[in-house]
Amino acid sequence: GDTRPYLGRFAPSPTGPLHAGSLVAALASWLDARAHGGRWLVRIEDVDGPRCVAGADRTILQQLAVCGLLSDEEPVWQSQRGEIYQQALNRLQAMGLAYGCACTRADIARAWEAAGQSQQRHGELVYPGTCRAGLQGRQPRAWRLLTQGSGIIEWTDRRLGRQRQDLEREVGDFVLKRADGLWAYQLAVVVDDALQGITDIVRGEDLADNTPRQIWLQRQLGLPLPRYLHTPLVLGENGEKLSKQNGAKALDLSDPLAALRQAACALGLHADARHLPDWLAAAVQAWRGMMPAS
Ligand code: GLU
Repeated sequence: GDTRPYLGRFAPSPTGPLHAGSLVAALASWLDARAHGGRWLVRIEDVDGPRCVAGADRTILQQLAVCGLLSDEEPVWQSQRGEIYQQALNRLQAMGLAYGCACTRADIARAWEAAGQSQQRHGELVYPGTCRAGLQGRQPRAWRLLTQGSGIIEWTDRRLGRQRQDLEREVGDFVLKRADGLWAYQLAVVVDDALQGITDIVRGEDLADNTPRQIWLQRQLGLPLPRYLHTPLVLGENGEKLSKQNGAKALDLSDPLAALRQAACALGLHADARHLPDWLAAAVQAWRGMMPAS
């Protein structure tokens, strides 16, 4: 197992203010860090500039602060770290593990059509590997990671238990740098978690199926493998998961304790105290009592 000192993180994308669902992930990651006597960092994942909302980063940090969830170090912004991601991509290219891809979406659809089949995942076409053999004089648009030989990626989530994914077949060679020049979440998150020394990743269950891609990338880059715990999702009134995309309301923080109690409830956690610091201390105790082993 990982014997480095516990370091956790909350890594929001500033596409809007925190909502009830994102507070669950923030609280769980903070509680797990404190319950382990570890430290906790906030990292602003603003690589996808067009999806970010101006000022949402500051709003999120304020919302966390109102809830008593303070980063133990100055937060970092991924938008400032392009050079670091480029170095990782350069290394993968030099090892022959990343390659330039000239395909448009339409090219990918045509390649599957020609093969008389199609592989989809969440409505997205799996990449059929067209440019593995080279660009045939075309210009690279995006950069992809080779998944050939990844086999079945297996990992154990502290809450979900044993997980597996046939990465090459179910996901295919995935994008590290996008055609629009932006860094892909997968690369940025893996590089930052490793460079910051993150030992434990606690985040929403909607991200669980990204984990095999991240594990594969960690293996290719020779990085330590963190532990994972994916927290339950909060469903809205319509039964869909809460997300900024489907219009989840910003958290009402006029009563931070009420918001925290609601988040704790989603985690199956009960803490009783009337004042924020006492409540947080009680919640750490309660988390210790029910904490999924790491
Ligand atoms: N930035 C991602 C999000 O807000 C989370 C990344 C992570 O926790 O790994 O969905």
